[in-house]
Amino acid sequence: MNSTQEIMSERSSILTKDQQFVWHPYSSLTDPIPAYEVVSAEGVLLHLADGTVLVDGMSSWWCTIHGYNHPVLNRAAKDQIDKVSHVMFGGITHAPAVDLCERLIQITPDGLDKVFLADSGSVAVEVAIKMAFQYWLSKGQPQKNKLLSLRNGYHGDTFAAMSVCDPVNGMHHLFDKVMQQHFFAPAPQTAFDGDWNENDIAEFTDIIRHQHQQLAAVILEPIVQGAGGMRFYSPDYLRRVRELCDQYDVLLIADEIATGFGRTGKLFACEWADITPDIMCLGKAITGGYMTLAATLCSEAVSTGICEGEAGCFMHGPTFMGNPLACAVANASIELLLSSNWQQNIQRIEATLKSELEPFADLPTVADVRALGAIGVIEMKEPVDVGAIQKQFVAAGVWVRPFGKLVYVMPPFISTDEELRQLVTGIYQVLKGLAD
Ligand SMILES: *Cc1c(COP(=O)(O)O)cnc(C)c1O
Repeated sequence: MNSTQEIMSERSSILTKDQQFVWHPYSSLTDPIPAYEVVSAEGVLLHLADGTVLVDGMSSWWCTIHGYNHPVLNRAAKDQIDKVSHVMFGGITHAPAVDLCERLIQITPDGLDKVFLADSGSVAVEVAIKMAFQYWLSKGQPQKNKLLSLRNGYHGDTFAAMSVCDPVNGMHHLFDKVMQQHFFAPAPQTAFDGDWNENDIAEFTDIIRHQHQQLAAVILEPIVQGAGGMRFYSPDYLRRVRELCDQYDVLLIADEIATGFGRTGKLFACEWADITPDIMCLGKAITGGYMTLAATLCSEAVSTGICEGEAGCFMHGPTFMGNPLACAVANASIELLLSSNWQQNIQRIEATLKSELEPFADLPTVADVRALGAIGVIEMKEPVDVGAIQKQFVAAGVWVRPFGKLVYVMPPFISTDEELRQLVTGIYQVLKGLAD
């Protein structure tokens, strides 16, 4: 074999072994859809093993806000590796974690005072739910052990997180019988910039009024419901939820794992409604997509309540809690974001997405198009065949991964207008082809 052939056969054996040995997210190992092998990436470009170059529209699921292979983030990781990559967090502390927690408290809405570092978004949600339960236990109200969530919500794949995802069209109804049962209100209907109608929250109000004695917390994704439908809703809804939680003495958990760090045009989506939740979950973009890290913030009232209870401490502590490498990169990523002209930049991306997505509305297969911040959504009338359409997107030079009826993009914040146009044009070619 010559060297090109050798490389080719090595590559094909990686893909063969991938299908033989490796689970991918929500994947089958008996009827696998081939994956694409990435060998490197920089900026908004993914380089595949066969030489194909793709414009990334996904930010690797909301994470890589500064693009791939960023020199500042690379530097932060390398510098920290030479000091200490990991050390246990029980009884030990370090500057990267302390700096990060202080920073998160500074930049999140006023009233979030304490930070618990977790290792993934789902764990941050578990921690938030556990905080809420432990808080009411400490307060001598053990019967407050139910949650109120919204339909079309998504909060992660672990058990407590699954139990508050949409119970029907979520990904977890299979596990109905082994999950804790909670309350669900209808998904908000008032559009992000729509006129508020109190009817929109009538059923939510009804549930919280009748069930508050057993409700520990309301959990929701503020403003943008992500993986449960890519829906944008009115800040008035969120404002009313905060008022009702106060009125009925129920904690409010805001899951900002997808929306945090600028994605919607505010640093945190709660700012659209000018509210502070009692507990907030962060993840995804927190390290700029370099490493897995998440955080659960809470108010001093919650932390004090928990710590004055019978246990005397919060009963949780992951092995990799406060990983220094992840914290160091998170600190660099947050500085990079805040020192940029990020607000104007997100407005630019929103304007470009809005105008570039307009022509899609005329395709007969498309039900709706919408954009908010650096999120663009094309909602189809029928679910798409992900395996087949993914192949066409790759052929068109773009990386887009739809689910169900939703073809959507959340590009890295560094995407230029030209790159955004390339991305949307690639998508248009493919969807136009489907319509013809
Ligand atoms: C992705 C996501 C999660 C889960 O985070 P993981 O890191 O995948 O565990 C939870 N909530 C929301 C809103 C998310 O978008």
